[in-house]
Amino acid sequence: MKYTGSCLCKQITFEVDSFQKSFGHCHCKMCQKFHGAAFSTFIEVKKSELNWLSGGALLKEYRAENDAIRTFCSCCGSSLLFESTYNRSENTIEIALALFDSIEVVHADAHIYTESKAPWFDINDTLPQYRQYRR
Ligand SMILES: [Zn+2]
Ligand SMILES: [Zn+2]
Repeated sequence: MKYTGSCLCKQITFEVDSFQKSFGHCHCKMCQKFHGAAFSTFIEVKKSELNWLSGGALLKEYRAENDAIRTFCSCCGSSLLFESTYNRSENTIEIALALFDSIEVVHADAHIYTESKAPWFDINDTLPQYRQYRR
């Protein structure tokens, strides 16, 4: 099974073979800034199972103060990837879930970094909430 997705301008396209375990909605301040939204939802994949189909030359990296690398489309600005030092040691990368064209096989199972949740966004589901990370 291949799961396909793209950035907003559709010049960057990719496919993923499978996903790693569970994932949460992240309410950290850096994700808020990166996405321009209340929270981000990234899903972890093995680097070897993420294949770029087009637009690789448009990928642009931003290395944040905490040494995490965030990748975005240099044409349309779509938030694409997150890679922490943990990801580097595991040879995985996290990809923004909303980029996928259609995906019904995965569901977030937590809210993380709720200590910095946007005050204008209310969490109204019953998923467990972690003030920071849960790993
Ligand atoms: Zn784009
Ligand atoms: Zn975050």
